[in-house]
Formats: sequence, C-alpha cells, structure tokens
Amino acid sequence: MAKVRDVYDYLNQIAPFDLQESYDNAGLLIGNFDNTVSAVLVCLDSTPEVVTEAIERGANLIVAHHPIIFSGLKSITGSNYIEETIILAIKNNINIIAIHTNLDNILTNGVNEKIAQQLGLTNLKILSPLNDEGQLGAGIIGELSKSMTESQFIDSLKKSMELKVVRHTKFIDRDIRKVAVCGGSGSFLLEKAITQQADAFITADFKYHQFFDADGQLVIFDIGHYESEKYTIELLVDLIKNKFSNFATHYTKHITNPVFYN
Ligand SMILES: [Zn+2]
Repeated sequence: MAKVRDVYDYLNQIAPFDLQESYDNAGLLIGNFDNTVSAVLVCLDSTPEVVTEAIERGANLIVAHHPIIFSGLKSITGSNYIEETIILAIKNNINIIAIHTNLDNILTNGVNEKIAQQLGLTNLKILSPLNDEGQLGAGIIGELSKSMTESQFIDSLKKSMELKVVRHTKFIDRDIRKVAVCGGSGSFLLEKAITQQADAFITADFKYHQFFDADGQLVIFDIGHYESEKYTIELLVDLIKNKFSNFATHYTKHITNPVFYN
C-alpha cells in the first residue's frame, strides 16, 4: 500500500522540492504523509470542483501544479475558493501535494521539456541555469528540426499546443529555428532568450509594456498561462502511473483555466 509519503518522495526524486523558488509554496499542503493513497487525481489548479471530482472518483490524493495555499491565511471560513477548497479537502480526508516551481526548474521530466517535446524541439538546454552542470534552472532553449517562416511557425505552434489564440509581437522577417520556452509567467527570462539568440520566445503572462522589450530581436509568443502548462497534467500522470501500479492515477476532467476567449 503506497502512502502519501511514497508519492511525495518519488516526486521529490524527479523535481526536488528544495529547487522551488523562494516565493513558492510547493510540497504537501493538506493531509498527512502517513495516509494510504487510494488513487491520485492530477490537475493544474486545485479548485472546489477538482476536490469534488477527487471525492467522487475515490482519489484521496490530489497532485496539483499550482499551490492552492500560496500566502498566509488568517482564517478559514470558506469565504473564497481557496478556503472552500481547503475546507472541502480536509472534511473529506483529501491530501493535496503541489509540485510547482521545482517542476519548472529541471531539464528532464519538467514542465518545459514537456512543452519542448510538444513543439518538436531538440538539443534542449536550460535557458537560465542555476549552476555549471546546466541540468537545473528556469526555461528551456532548443531547436526545431528545420527552420520555419514566422507564419509557418505560428500555424505549427497553434496546432502542436492546441491553441485558439496567440498574442505575439511584430514579426521581424527572420526564420525561426532556435526557440526559448517557459511555461507560465516567463517574462523574467526575456533577456536570457535574447542573449542566447532565440528567434522565438514562447511563454505567458506578458504585460503590454513588456511586449515592447522584444525590440525587434525576437518574436514573443504569449500563448496563455493555462495553455502553456496544460501538458504538465499528462507529464505527472505518466510519471506517477509508471512508478505506482497499486493505485489508479487520473487526469482531472475539469479545465480549470479561469481565462475565456470570445
Ligand atoms: Zn503556472
């Protein structure tokens, strides 16, 4: 019988929780390491709907990318979706693990490798390495097997990431071969992408003024936060399934993206 601790330890082997950013709150957020795992439900965001789904499907462990508890709570009365999620989880003995920036900060089996694979990039390297070994750090940079025009690239990007809409900066009339990637809010890596001569930078959460910083040196493609990370669910399901055969691991049925397009 696998315990919550076994799943945590396994995730810790893949993406050590120590690698999380200082502002982050990845780890076991709700529950107990000694609880026996009945089944796992994987999601990007633990919401009340996701917790309800876990209860209905008999999964007492949720593995989420985003930590539902991120900053200090002074009361838990159910007055917002965070508190509702916490109350629902505790009342129903649901454990919640968040594997967040630690999963962003690894080369192999991380959020960004998964995106790079979707895009067909090879020769992957960490965009902003934490040390000389280059296995750890933020973002990834890689190459397409053959270069594409910017409009070919945008078509291929929409197809491979299943996107309806992409926000991007002005085309600079340069073929795209070298591509930098950062799932989620990656604007802090723009300079690194430029320095390493990426032709395109794929990420999310760019603000109006930050788009100007592309400055004709590459094209920024802002594909949306949820859209950039959605394959992380598949990544985690596959990893957990391959390791543990004594319980089921499910994808959530809910699309938790809070952003809608019309
Ligand atoms: Zn994210």
